[in-house]
Amino acid sequence: MNISDIRQHFPILDQQVNGKDLVYLDSGATSQKPLAVIDALSTYYKEYNSNVHRGVHTLGTRATDGYEGAREKVRRFIGAKSIQEIIFTRGATTALNIVAQSYGLTNVKEGDEIVITYMEHHANVIPWQQVAKITGATLKYIPLQEDGTIDLKDVEETITPNTKIVSVMHVSNVLGTINPIKEITEVAHKHGAVMVVDGCQSAPHMKVDVRDLDCDFFAFSAHKMCGPTGIGVLYGKKALLEKMEPVEFGGEMIDFVGLHESTWKELPWKFEAGTPIIAGAIGLGEAIDFLEKVGLDNIESHDRKLTKYAYEQLSQVDGLTIYGPSPEKRTGLVTFNIEDVHPHDVATVLDAEGIAVRAGHHCAQPLMKWLKVSATARASFYLYNTEQEVDKLVAGIKKTKEYFSNV
Ligand code: PMP
Repeated sequence: MNISDIRQHFPILDQQVNGKDLVYLDSGATSQKPLAVIDALSTYYKEYNSNVHRGVHTLGTRATDGYEGAREKVRRFIGAKSIQEIIFTRGATTALNIVAQSYGLTNVKEGDEIVITYMEHHANVIPWQQVAKITGATLKYIPLQEDGTIDLKDVEETITPNTKIVSVMHVSNVLGTINPIKEITEVAHKHGAVMVVDGCQSAPHMKVDVRDLDCDFFAFSAHKMCGPTGIGVLYGKKALLEKMEPVEFGGEMIDFVGLHESTWKELPWKFEAGTPIIAGAIGLGEAIDFLEKVGLDNIESHDRKLTKYAYEQLSQVDGLTIYGPSPEKRTGLVTFNIEDVHPHDVATVLDAEGIAVRAGHHCAQPLMKWLKVSATARASFYLYNTEQEVDKLVAGIKKTKEYFSNV
């Protein structure tokens, strides 16, 4: 599929915003959805809306097949061994909280260490702060290099025999840095710690193979990879998940319920209490089909090429600071500030040009502190973005500079 074929699948892109053709550069926050995903949700509700796992009627069977079929697609998509290792959650945030509450609170005690990095999203900071607070463990940060990358020497120094959990993002939602997860996992395992990966910004943009990474847990959200909101995935190695207690209890997750004691279903259902996110899972399955039709390799090379192009074009704009590493170490986005202009003003002027970018702390306040800024602007790219759109961004930024130099 070439880029204009790809864009045909995203009806939302074909519109004007503030009188200008929409340039959507905020896929890091949430991606747009192809027609196939929108249609799959609508077909489910129009034709076979039903609860799963219980009814023997035809619609219930069709809904169950759709829901469980999506689980198999996710398993294949990330290279997991078994569908028992694929838990549907409300999103990456919920997935990371399950690991923190279920694995963290049981396996971490006073004097132990939990290791994260300065670039983590709040979803991969606060759950660990809570575990540290409750257990008396210490939360440690792997420092960053000046260019916003991680040096393995620092990984070796930060992780110790007292470390029980290491949790690191695969790709930064602010710096775009692609982190050496496989190598960090090796260090974590050498010390007997489990490795948790926040894959929110990698799963949409590159082929992920959890068995190759050898991580113990991997979390991501469907809405950043062409799927619907409200659904995400927690992958966990079966041996670990089997020993973990659910964090939510109720219908769907039980095997037998007595007056004072109950038993749980087998994996993965013991972690999915209540009526599950049926339409969401079906939509995620359709999104995976779509991404695989385009080809993850093609998406990865497109996104990296476009990021490099944006980085190079933006580097030539005077008074603009780009955060994070050189293009070959990053994917998906460019984060920047224009001298003497607040990023919210940047985003507002760009919006008037029909260009959607994100401005703020990007749910990464520890990283903002490290960068010594309170906020930045971020342009993030996906399979439907073009070089012409990057050119419009650059023109919009030049206009912003001009506008603010006259006020
Ligand atoms: N981690 C990263 C790196 C993210 O970019 C995001 C979403 N901005 C999250 C975690 C949280 O994802 P969600 O809000 O979908 O749970």
